[in-house]
Amino acid sequence: MINLKDLNFRELEEFVLKRGWQKFRAKQIAKWIYTKKVYSYDEMTDLSKEIRNKLKEEAEFDALELITYQQSKLDGTVKFLWKLKDGNSIETVLIKEKDHWTLCVSTQVGCAVGCMFCYTTKDGLIRNLSTAEIVQQYINVQRLLGEGKENRISNIVYMGMGEPLANYDNVKKSVQIFTHPDMCKLSHRKITISSSGILHQIRRMYEDNDFPEVKLAVSINASQQNQRQFLMPISQTNTLEDLLVLLRTISLKPGWRITLEYVLIKGLNDTVEDAKRLADLIKRDRHRFKVNLIPFNPFPGSPFQRPEEERVYRFEKVLWDNGIATFIRWSKGIDIDAACGQLRKKHLEEVNV
Ligand code: SAH
Ligand code: SF4
Repeated sequence: MINLKDLNFRELEEFVLKRGWQKFRAKQIAKWIYTKKVYSYDEMTDLSKEIRNKLKEEAEFDALELITYQQSKLDGTVKFLWKLKDGNSIETVLIKEKDHWTLCVSTQVGCAVGCMFCYTTKDGLIRNLSTAEIVQQYINVQRLLGEGKENRISNIVYMGMGEPLANYDNVKKSVQIFTHPDMCKLSHRKITISSSGILHQIRRMYEDNDFPEVKLAVSINASQQNQRQFLMPISQTNTLEDLLVLLRTISLKPGWRITLEYVLIKGLNDTVEDAKRLADLIKRDRHRFKVNLIPFNPFPGSPFQRPEEERVYRFEKVLWDNGIATFIRWSKGIDIDAACGQLRKKHLEEVNV
């Protein structure tokens, strides 16, 4: 059975035409799914009964089922755990910002990249998510939040479980759906794809005219090759030097910057020397970059520790002193198993899978 949320707008039009229906039906269907976010084909009242029946026969409606959710008492962050059709589970995090909601979506079950500090990768990669499974994280959470301007999710970050650029085609199609004017209508500038730095895929994304231009974040996490290679095995072949050459040269829209994410691990990459080295690497292109510092989120069995606040502020100060825009991302929902993949793991342990 197909899922209509696996189709971008052009494909939805083809689907409609192939069945002998008029082209405008694609717009109608998209409106029901992405704007009105209905729960069944029966609610699509401007489609004939015949069309609705055919859709019921041919296209599954829901790809995700809510298993559980946790809300942080500290900052309102909500973490959702979904069950997929094949029994796997994934997480989505809804983050309350000052004046908007941001949704952090997953793109894979697990991850193959193997970063030392990351919980998601502990069991390796299980599989890629389909486009529908990515898009539906947004639809379902927006439904639960309800309509109304104050409830609208305006920002999407691809920073949940998985490496988005290792699931290139489905991630690309999900971005097409999120930004299409007849689908989710989200703003390009409010969508961020975060990558561990797979160079050929970043290059591919920037050369691909069908990939809607959205913001890029790269997890840099270190200021020297040997350190980065230790934390992120992918850096053995995608070196820090090559990464920086690429990030300095890709063409950006005016005013857009690349975010460099840096997980701060106590005693490992959080010293003043590290901060100075990082500043030296990027200060000549400081207009191109901003840095997000993420104090490490410990998880059971992790070999690392989160630095104390003063170490984090000290690191931040060195970067600001070098004119580099730097922001600390204190983990949201620290009381709700905030490290990515933790809620899923806990659930698996509870049900003894
Ligand atoms: N795979 C992509 C996107 C998902 S990870 C990537 O690596 O960029 C999103 C961010 O969370 C990355 O910047 C990663 O470095 C960070 N991260 C992973 N595990 C973490 C942990 N235990 N504590 C803090 N940040 C973590
Ligand atoms: Fe994968 Fe990102 Fe975790 Fe690295 S940090 S293992 S790339 S999800």
